[in-house]
Amino acid sequence: MASALRTLGMLGGMSWESTIPYYRNLNRVIRTARGGHHSAPLLLCSVDFDEIERFQASDDWDGAGRLLGGKAWSLANAGAEALLLCTNTMHRVASQIEAISGLPLLHVGDACGAAIRNVGLRRIGLLGTRYTMEMDFLIERLQQQFELEVLVPEADDRQLVHRVIFDELCQGEVLASSRRSFVRIIDELARRGAEGVLLGCTEISLLVDPAELAIPAFDSTQLHAQAGARFILGDLQLERRPADLALAG
Ligand code: GLU
Repeated sequence: MASALRTLGMLGGMSWESTIPYYRNLNRVIRTARGGHHSAPLLLCSVDFDEIERFQASDDWDGAGRLLGGKAWSLANAGAEALLLCTNTMHRVASQIEAISGLPLLHVGDACGAAIRNVGLRRIGLLGTRYTMEMDFLIERLQQQFELEVLVPEADDRQLVHRVIFDELCQGEVLASSRRSFVRIIDELARRGAEGVLLGCTEISLLVDPAELAIPAFDSTQLHAQAGARFILGDLQLERRPADLALAG
């Protein structure tokens, strides 16, 4: 007999536009795996993204970590057994969230890095917010744990990608002109030697169709949700540590 499904906590709303495909993906994988009326046991805490965006813009990562850590702690108390942080950018504070909540977090970088290495690629282009493309929290993990070489777009294009994510995709606006720009930027990464591209922002797959691209695309939303589903099914073991709510201040 199949084991009982585990309960996964989700920190979503960053933005809510991309929490929807997470939710859909998780449930579809569980239905396919278990059949019948099975669906994913989930506890979702969906934040007010305005608060998170203000922390980012004022470079107050510690404040954001404390806020998200407190929310993850509530999910732990409600019965979550592990955590899916439904954004790449906020993985900047992943270890703080884990320390406060005591919940093991399924890191988006691990889900993506493993998928890229599994198909034998070594050099990968990365699109994401400017935080993800310019800080080291995701790039370093891909380099050190998966031995990937990571290329990011030039400065003007990084600015364009960041602007489209925040001003359009997080607002539910999907423009053909932005899609063309993203395809051009990915083509440019391919010309510089990228063998594939990591869509390292959970809204990008709302805009870009991998079939339009010259190189394989790795969608962080889909890969991260698949990792979450593996945890629910009991195929992924994670260690839980004691929570330390005092760190939330
Ligand atoms: N969802 C986005 C990401 O994956 C950007 C929004 C945010 O800053 O959290 O990075």
